[in-house]
Amino acid sequence: MPAYIVLFGPPGAGKGTQAQAISQKLSLPHISSGDIFRENLKSHTELGKLAETYMSKGNLVPDDVTIAMIRERLTRPDCKNGALLDGFPRTVAQADALAAMLAEFQGGVNAVPFINVPEAVLVERLTGRWTCRAQGHIFHEKNNPPRIAGHCDFDGSELYQRDDDKVETVTNRIRVYFKQSGPLIEYYRQRGVLVEVDGARPIEQVTEDLLAALPTE
Ligand code: ADP
Ligand code: ADP
Repeated sequence: MPAYIVLFGPPGAGKGTQAQAISQKLSLPHISSGDIFRENLKSHTELGKLAETYMSKGNLVPDDVTIAMIRERLTRPDCKNGALLDGFPRTVAQADALAAMLAEFQGGVNAVPFINVPEAVLVERLTGRWTCRAQGHIFHEKNNPPRIAGHCDFDGSELYQRDDDKVETVTNRIRVYFKQSGPLIEYYRQRGVLVEVDGARPIEQVTEDLLAALPTE
């Protein structure tokens, strides 16, 4: 049976950072809805143009568009053994749609690590985030600086600050998270798959805790 893991947590919790650290160890592809939207934006697709109108304000892209995009991604051959989802689902409607599509693929959500970080830490994390142009590798100017300022450690590409990491947009994204994504904590707790991990610890310790919390084959 394929294994599907949903990394959950507020913007800035460290989902992308941890997904990059554990995806290989779990032999599951890292699927980030935000990265897919940003790739579409870069290549000027219709989806990219539509998503941008929501992303620039820190609002969620409509469910139907987001669900269709993830569905297409999960049917690709590299997902035959499952996937490590980062940033999806973000609403109850998305979670219901995910459950339905995974049932079609003879699977289900196996675990939902909830990376919990106090709200006060999130703004500092997001406004100090630097992202790599080529592949979305994630750094932080203080907490996880690149070896050479402005360049990605992994592929040498330029690092940039996302437009939606400006303080005004960040504040709205956090508000949107509590309102629209918050209910997913209870949703997955009730289904017995939620595992809470303290995300306020150093990156490597969160990685260890996550791996320990995940079901092993
Ligand atoms: P998310 O995908 O949940 O929005 P990221 O993985 O992009 O979060 O992390 C947000 C920012 O916080 C990045 O700049 C990252 O380097 C930094 N960060 C991630 N995890 C930690 C941690 N455990 N301690 C300190 N900073 C972290
Ligand atoms: P972060 O983890 O830092 O919040 P993401 O890269 O996951 O940021 O998402 C960036 C933006 O992309 C979101 O603010 C939202 O506009 C859009 N987005 C990403 N995933 C989803 C989703 N599952 N549903 C709706 N919108 C999404």
